[in-house]
Amino acid sequence: MSNKQTRREFFKVGALSTLLVGSGIAFAGGCDVIRQRGKTKNVIFLVSDGMSAGTLQMADTYLRRAEGRPSAWIRLLEENVVKRGLMDMASADRIVTDSAAAAASWGCGHRVNNGALNIGPDGTHHDPILPIFRDAGKATGLVTTTEITHATPAGFAANVEHRSQGEDIAVQYYERGIDLLLGGAHNHLSGETRDDGRDLYTEFENAGYNISRNKSELMNGNSTEGKQLGIFANGHLPYTLDQVNTPDLIESVPTLAEMTDVAIQNLSGNSNGFILQVEGGRVDHAAHGNDVGGMLFDQIAFDDAIEVAMNFAQERDDTMVIITTDHGNANPGFSSAPDSQFDNLQKFRHSNSWIGRELNENSTVSEIRERIEYATGYEAPREVAEDFLASMKGEFRATYGRMSGQSAVLGQVIANYTDVNWVGGSHTADYVELASFGPGSEALNGFVINTQLFDVITQAAGVLEPA
Ligand SMILES: [Zn+2]
Repeated sequence: MSNKQTRREFFKVGALSTLLVGSGIAFAGGCDVIRQRGKTKNVIFLVSDGMSAGTLQMADTYLRRAEGRPSAWIRLLEENVVKRGLMDMASADRIVTDSAAAAASWGCGHRVNNGALNIGPDGTHHDPILPIFRDAGKATGLVTTTEITHATPAGFAANVEHRSQGEDIAVQYYERGIDLLLGGAHNHLSGETRDDGRDLYTEFENAGYNISRNKSELMNGNSTEGKQLGIFANGHLPYTLDQVNTPDLIESVPTLAEMTDVAIQNLSGNSNGFILQVEGGRVDHAAHGNDVGGMLFDQIAFDDAIEVAMNFAQERDDTMVIITTDHGNANPGFSSAPDSQFDNLQKFRHSNSWIGRELNENSTVSEIRERIEYATGYEAPREVAEDFLASMKGEFRATYGRMSGQSAVLGQVIANYTDVNWVGGSHTADYVELASFGPGSEALNGFVINTQLFDVITQAAGVLEPA
């Protein structure tokens, strides 16, 4: 379905008939559907970036074995609280999407080329969903563990030719009056680091925003009302696993759940309702790096944010919650091995990214083994550590060439200890998990095309007239 008209026709006939079949309501005409429109006051859209099916399962299995509880996401499915769909995330030009095209498919209802944000292959600028909600009188917010200017949040609010235009994206957030922005990317805000020398902190402040630069400033009570800009890192926020084992970072950086809680308290003050995007953005980065500890504990941090959102939504009947991912990444899985191998993850203290940070081609095998053991509890055999050293020297060659790089080799070193292994270091084409709750979610069971989410959300909220 290439154009808007055709897609909307499909939506009316296809997805809404699914709605009625799915909910078991006898259907005589269009009236019931029309009456549904506008029932959704608030929308909370949660994205675990780059979450493969195995990531969802491993977070749940880890929590059951280590803490005796399921993950929030799986519990919602177990208790039939949410609808479950499977979603095709392809972009306009690729089977395998990137995060920009993926977020744009939800953010404007069109497939765009990989790398683009709400600008179609023919150059058409499509209105993103946050400004559409703003124009309907609703509050708007973006929360992420990556740079706030990164592709996923930007897909809900910005129009740029390429996702790399982070400084332009920051200006668009300002000009478009996004009410709440929490994440990283000091570099894209500060006059000292921006190419144009423009200090956006000053501009946001002059526009009435409360500025937070650390966790205590975010949590001191000034953030529950009024416009908010919270920037907690130069680039991305740290991996959760590194953060919880670094006292300074526990003090200074809020968790995704804490940011989500502040955002919901703040935005729900708008009597017309709100839309909030929440991204666990570094699950993707860890998967690219074949970094099981980084990935698992960021997925669990994302899961904690689901809990916060659902605690708000389940007490009311006017809030739609979407929980999904934009694509798989490296498709990790725990493969047949004693369960104790999986339980080794309970001994992890740091990410692979942390391990690699202090090592290079001049490191000794002993240094490598010590650092791996400190971070994970794994006493790596010498020959395995030697493979990692060879990869840092550019001298290691895997038969599947994409697995020759140092993060892939370190991922395989650690896989000897956890039996969680990887299919590569890039996004995958898998159809993705989609869980949804609240008014409008009836249309989101079964098989869903990414762009349909835009239609379902905007129609449920009544912020756009159907074409
Ligand atoms: Zn990615």
